[in-house]
Amino acid sequence: MDQRTVSSVIAGRPVAGAPGGRIRSTNPARLDEVVADVALGDAPLLVTAAQVASDAQRAWADVPAPVRGRAIAHIGRLVEDNKQALAALVTREIGKPYPEALGEVQEIIDTCDFFLGEGRRLYGQTVPSEMPDKQLFTFRNPVGAVAVITAGNFPVAVPSWYIVPALLCGNSVVWKPAEYSAATAAAFHELFCRGGGLPPGVFNVVYADGPTTFAGLEQALDAGLIDKVGFTGSSEVGARIGELAGRHLQSACLELGGKNPMVVTASADIDLAVEGALFGGFGTAGQRCTSLGTVICHESVHDEFLTRFAEATAAAAVGDPFADVLYGPMLDIRFSERFERFLAWIGPQHKIMGSSGIGRITAANPRARFAGDPEAGIFCHPTIVDGVRPGDKIFDQETFGPLVGVTTYRTLDQAVELANAPGYGLSSSIYTSDASEAFRFRRGVSAGMVSVNNSTSGAEAHLPFGGNGKSGNGSRQSGQWVLDQFTRWQALNWDYSGRLQKAQMDVAELTPDHDFRL
Ligand code: NAD
Repeated sequence: MDQRTVSSVIAGRPVAGAPGGRIRSTNPARLDEVVADVALGDAPLLVTAAQVASDAQRAWADVPAPVRGRAIAHIGRLVEDNKQALAALVTREIGKPYPEALGEVQEIIDTCDFFLGEGRRLYGQTVPSEMPDKQLFTFRNPVGAVAVITAGNFPVAVPSWYIVPALLCGNSVVWKPAEYSAATAAAFHELFCRGGGLPPGVFNVVYADGPTTFAGLEQALDAGLIDKVGFTGSSEVGARIGELAGRHLQSACLELGGKNPMVVTASADIDLAVEGALFGGFGTAGQRCTSLGTVICHESVHDEFLTRFAEATAAAAVGDPFADVLYGPMLDIRFSERFERFLAWIGPQHKIMGSSGIGRITAANPRARFAGDPEAGIFCHPTIVDGVRPGDKIFDQETFGPLVGVTTYRTLDQAVELANAPGYGLSSSIYTSDASEAFRFRRGVSAGMVSVNNSTSGAEAHLPFGGNGKSGNGSRQSGQWVLDQFTRWQALNWDYSGRLQKAQMDVAELTPDHDFRL
């Protein structure tokens, strides 16, 4: 297998040296396979990238929006022509099963398809004035230079949600991808720059670790070089990024963790709910922001659901992400180590189901229906924890990994209360055949996204994506909604009366007859 050398690219040129050190990005399904040797940058390099992006932004904004839209169209076509190769790289580098990786790449194409047309819209408005011989208009202006920091569990789809609309709207970008998905990021960056014919400096990529990124971002913000921050990652880091942006009077676009509930009502189709729980809970080894956190089961169907869910989980194939499996390895060793800490939260009051063991799958801790050699990579058993309640860490906090909690409720109000209790608010789902239950749940749940008879995962590229509470600050990505992240409204009033007409004061008044009665 080929091994790449990956380094930051600023103003179209690869950066020489590795001021932040070097790391190896490995295949998590075969740890002895190095996918990329990655040269990391330091904080000054991030500042340089921000300076370059800031310098390049004006000229990019001067390119007519329909022409920028054509660039997005070309990027989409080039990604489509490289779909299999990019998906295979995603699977190799982060272990996402190949069909899911193909879906992930498709999400870039869908995003490009949506935004290529936006280049010919990006509408402003003409607005009537309260005075004659005066006209009002609104324009969408690009924000400026944008810093985008992303997690590696969706190493190309999520970045495209930021970078495609940001570029389309006339912004320049400095992207800091996750270190462990650097080869995938390099491929994405190259496809965008070549496919779009982007001028140097408009789209820059910098590889760096978390603390370096924070330091570089702070310096770039202090120097006035970054006008907008987009961050996708943990709630903990997101809170710090939001605070930093706030100190610079900016509101970051924050897309954070989730503890996504799925309510199974008494009228639910249990087979469908089990299928949704399996995909939502264990797809991508539970390492999606929209992964199912807790199943909230009506007490009358709890036993039936749990039995069937445990059977389906025990029967599912896990292993080699290029084989036909429910899920593959953990994204990177850091996630399996952290997952072990989450497993320690399981208490004596909980009942564990779903596999022949818990924790890392090894020769000594095997799992039936394992595809490949578990010792070659970092694979974890799927774990169902029944009996979780508010106050249990395992109920209250995101447990990024293949772990699903199960609890019970009696009334729908209780189900909504349990769904909201952890304080996140990204995705949610309800399985019911009762329309009034579906709509009552929708109204009560704090999540930004609600599925009815569908799993908690499965965003489409043109619906608003985002969360509330610990899942984000209310920002939304995708579709027309993300335009408000990457443009600022400018209001123009143009008075051609030749005199000073004062708003609110020089306004004609009609005389109504309030005493009139029929
Ligand atoms: P993380 O917050 O540790 O890292 C995310 C990114 O931020 C990485 O690029 C990382 O290098 C960088 N980073 C880390 N510390 C930083 C700091 N102090 N300053 C600046 N940048 C820093 O997240 P993770 O644990 O690697 O990723 C998983 C998390 O991301 C989960 O909580 C998951 O739910 C969330 N996520 C959310 C979404 C969403 O759209 N809501 C999508 C994917 C992942």
